Amino acid sequence: MFNYTMKDNCLAKKVILVTGAGSGIGRQAALTYAKLGATVILLGKTVQKLEQVYDEIIANGGAEPAIVPLDLKGATQQNYIDMSSTIAQQFGHLDGALLNASMLGELTPYTHIHQQIWDDTIKVNVTAQHLLSQALIPTMLKADNASLVFTSSGVGSKGRAYWGAYSVSKFATEGLMQVIADEYDESNLRVNAINPGATATAMRATAYPAEDQSTLATPEDIMPLYVYLMSDDSQNTTGQVIKAQ
Ligand code: NAP
Repeated sequence: MFNYTMKDNCLAKKVILVTGAGSGIGRQAALTYAKLGATVILLGKTVQKLEQVYDEIIANGGAEPAIVPLDLKGATQQNYIDMSSTIAQQFGHLDGALLNASMLGELTPYTHIHQQIWDDTIKVNVTAQHLLSQALIPTMLKADNASLVFTSSGVGSKGRAYWGAYSVSKFATEGLMQVIADEYDESNLRVNAINPGATATAMRATAYPAEDQSTLATPEDIMPLYVYLMSDDSQNTTGQVIKAQ
């Protein structure tokens, strides 16, 4: 596991957006960031799941979160711009954005890939990440120092049979991260990507239905890297793909 000690209140006063905050790794990241003092903005497509995370944060004594219901498949560029300016109006700036939401699509032989699923996967996993980044960066540049974190995968640097559009989308994610990191190298914005490694979530269960999830890391286990990249301790880290395990 990535070796980092998560200190109490290490995210105090930070405003952090988490996409896909309703379940899996994103849910755990939102809860963890709130526990360490951050105000979190919960973005996801299923409002009921976001409300459950909201309630849990309040019950744990965290700062009141904001909820942004948005389906990355249907959202327009204007939706992201409006969201970023609402964040700027409400909080003044954005310290962190964890771009975690993505879809698996289908695992299938390359020649059988359905065009609609290819298009949806590229839209959610690549185009939406680009539009989110483009819209959020001006609000992130208002922070003292800001951290933009993408989510890759083991199939994002080495292609794997049957992983089709998902694998290609994660290569693109790493490329997008590197382009933005290089462009903002001299600024207060750092840009990195996390490779979570095999983690017990619904997406993992869909990809590996026969696997015993009790043998895998839990979302909670992999939080040290997620916290490190949002804390000031990672201020000089940019342009990296880092493994959580
Ligand atoms: P998960 O439990 O399936 O969570 C995915 C999240 O993304 C959900 O909250 C989901 O929202 C959201 N989402 C999906 N499509 C969306 C859309 N169109 N608009 C808005 N939100 C959408 O998966 P996970 O395992 O936690 O995955 C988190 C990230 O880690 C992903 O980027 C994944 O590729 C990456 N990853 C995971 C593993 C692993 O082993 N788990 C390994 C490598 C990489 P709803 O719940 O509302 O559908």
